[in-house]
Amino acid sequence: MKTAKNAHELIAQYAPQEVHYYSDPATGLKTIIVIHSTALGPATGGTRFYPYQSWEVALEDALKLAQAMSYKCALAELPFGGGKGVIVGDPKREKTPELLRAYARVVQQFDGRFMTGEDVGISAEDLEVMMRETKFLAGAKGVTRDLSTVTAHGVVYGLKACFQTVFGNSSLKGRTLAVQGAGKVGYYLIKLLAAEGAKLLVSDIDRRALEIVQSEFGVRVVEPPEAIYAVECDAFVPCALGGIINDTTLPLLNCKIVAGSANNQLKEPRHGDRLHEFGILYAPDYVINAGGLIAGVQDLLGGSVEKALHETEKIYGRLLKIFEISRREGLAPHRVADRIAEERLRAQHREAS
Ligand code: NAD
Repeated sequence: MKTAKNAHELIAQYAPQEVHYYSDPATGLKTIIVIHSTALGPATGGTRFYPYQSWEVALEDALKLAQAMSYKCALAELPFGGGKGVIVGDPKREKTPELLRAYARVVQQFDGRFMTGEDVGISAEDLEVMMRETKFLAGAKGVTRDLSTVTAHGVVYGLKACFQTVFGNSSLKGRTLAVQGAGKVGYYLIKLLAAEGAKLLVSDIDRRALEIVQSEFGVRVVEPPEAIYAVECDAFVPCALGGIINDTTLPLLNCKIVAGSANNQLKEPRHGDRLHEFGILYAPDYVINAGGLIAGVQDLLGGSVEKALHETEKIYGRLLKIFEISRREGLAPHRVADRIAEERLRAQHREAS
């Protein structure tokens, strides 16, 4: 564990409402739960099970992801705040039903102030184990079994808003889109985009994932995977990793739009400013990829799949508004989105005090 000073610096930077550390020697559970904000409602955010090198690295990830959840909920106009759970350890070796149940008991102690769900290292099956100890889980027993399908649905609407803004026409028919990652979201997205008549170029590091989308939808595979950044296309659609818009990839991009499901696409906020300077329209990730969250919240509220899809389609109008403010003020879209989220959180704090 690193020095407390660094943890203090991190907490000063992200200014979370609460940070909780727990360890349980009986099961080996080591976890941090961050509640970034409950200004708009109970904190919600998935749980990540990951072999972090230290508590401090885990804390930073939890703080960053919890803040992103607050912003995402605020932008999606959901009555929820941002939180995140991280479990320190290698899920392949250390994930046991006992550990998951111990973690679920910690979640239960929050009595609904923190609700969680799937993330890296935590699957729908794991949530079923956790359900024995807590009911504060999204996507575990709700009507939307696979939240990735709704995320993909939202990305299609987000892409349409981008095309409307750049080309004055939201249709994706005949447009060339370069999709990075044919995983859970990527697969459904490729399916939807193929149905819209888009021309699809796809990269993945997993051969099997590529073979599936190639045989089912006739997409063109881009190899090696990193060649995807430089392909000529209308939109680059990141659906794999974070940090892919950076000093190395920015000069390679040969597109008019960057819009996809991946979290934390900008390595640093300044890379979003560079996209703006280059005249490439960037759809802020937490706005365009909110479909899964919206569906998870509908699950918690007892809503239907139809309602979740309908709410997700509002991503189109939200992005159009952000792009309009961006154009009017000459400010990059990610800055506009952050400002709207921060204003909503501040306004709610003022109302509550
Ligand atoms: P996933 O793990 O199912 O899919 C990711 C895919 O990317 C995999 O097929 C993987 O092989 C591929 N990949 C990894 N490295 C790559 C590389 N260098 N080049 C090309 N492909 C590579 O994950 P997912 O659930 O589909 O999520 C994709 C992204 O969207 C992630 O950033 C995730 O955080 C974000 N996201 C997902 C959801 C959701 O509902 N699943 C919601 C919001 C955001």
